[in-house]
Amino acid sequence: MHVRVRFAPSPTGFLHIGGARTALFNWLYARHTGGTFILRIEDTDAARNTESAVNIIIEGLRWLGLEWDEGPQTSNADGRSMGQAGPYFQSRRSAIYQARVEELKMKGLAYEHEGAVKFRMPREPITINDLVVGEVRRELTDRESKDPDFVIVRSDGQPVFHLVNVVDDLEMDITHVIRGEDHLSNTAKHIALFNAFGTPPPRYAHIPLILNTDGSKMSKRDQGASLISYMQEGFVPEAVANYLCLLGWSPKDNREILAQSEIISRFDLPQILRHNARFDFTKLRWLNWEYIRSMERDRYLKLAVSAMEQAGFDLSKVPPDYTAAALLTCKEKVQQLSELASLAGFYFRDDMTFEESVRAKEFNPESGACLLRLKSSLEALDLFSADHIQQVLKRLAAESYVKMSVFVHPLRVACTGSTTGPSLYHLVEILGKSRVIHRLDQALALCG
Ligand code: GLU
Repeated sequence: MHVRVRFAPSPTGFLHIGGARTALFNWLYARHTGGTFILRIEDTDAARNTESAVNIIIEGLRWLGLEWDEGPQTSNADGRSMGQAGPYFQSRRSAIYQARVEELKMKGLAYEHEGAVKFRMPREPITINDLVVGEVRRELTDRESKDPDFVIVRSDGQPVFHLVNVVDDLEMDITHVIRGEDHLSNTAKHIALFNAFGTPPPRYAHIPLILNTDGSKMSKRDQGASLISYMQEGFVPEAVANYLCLLGWSPKDNREILAQSEIISRFDLPQILRHNARFDFTKLRWLNWEYIRSMERDRYLKLAVSAMEQAGFDLSKVPPDYTAAALLTCKEKVQQLSELASLAGFYFRDDMTFEESVRAKEFNPESGACLLRLKSSLEALDLFSADHIQQVLKRLAAESYVKMSVFVHPLRVACTGSTTGPSLYHLVEILGKSRVIHRLDQALALCG
């Protein structure tokens, strides 16, 4: 069987992390089976449907690397591909839905009711054989058993979600519907519609929800709920995709960092976990750190520069070698690229500003004396390299019978404005002699 799956979001102006995971699972299953992955925008609700809402979905999927395979115009007259096709838009398929409604009416399975069209829902229970949830038997609820028929076309002529969703799954030959568990309650209606069209329904796999760390339901405003926030806050797409895989699926050997090719080869529907997944921001940040530190140099630099620019640093006039050397000292130190602004910002400032608390604590006559000796020794260095800088500090400490930290600490604060940061001797080397001397002068002026 050639597997055909789809991600079918409604454009709400928001791509929820649960939706992104649904897209990912569909894409993985298509890649695992050599099947086809379709993107279908369920935009029949014209009121909510805007171009920017669609773009949020498309940008999010592209960022995660989830390319879709097919669309309304996949090829030209010679059958050659014309680039990436699709997605499908339900708003452009009304003729198809109308024809299918006529078909149901002709079969006596749909009828007009107060200007709307209603579907004749079977009264007997429907069994769903879900690939994740297992066997679910749906009986009509008390309210439904009085009148189980439901509207498929509203009185304003708009076809309803259940109808368009099923018609498209049928027309697009979808073999597996992988979607959020919130749709399990709709599935009996969907199966009834498939039966009415005389087509066997696809296999269903309903994925459990993603909950907050504390087990509460994740709402729009909760941390980590929106995919856009990851794009803006310095997460790398491979880390997010890897993390999303682990939310609700398990390779069964406790490994956490998995290359995408390996996930594709191992991913299968029966391993989707049946319990709700809990979102763990700490783990995601750890994974992101792992991906950043093992990232290839040039890619890291590209992402790091754009994170700095996003934070308001203009690096266009800074020599590229300096920028690269500076940002590379932070590569293993950030969990999110957005942290670079505070960690590496000192490299790119002309004048240091020291917070009042730092001034009061770090600059005094004793540290001033150290800085003065550091200044004359560093000024005298011919080769301004990390090794030589370290030797200067060793020598100064030995001469005064004190620990190296007596010199290390004020030097770091003077050069970076902070008591923590990248490796000191390297950062001093990268800043270069004239910048370092300038900063020592600035600090000395504060030492009294
Ligand atoms: N448009 C529906 C949603 O966004 C799709 C449901 C489905 O995947 O069948 O929830």
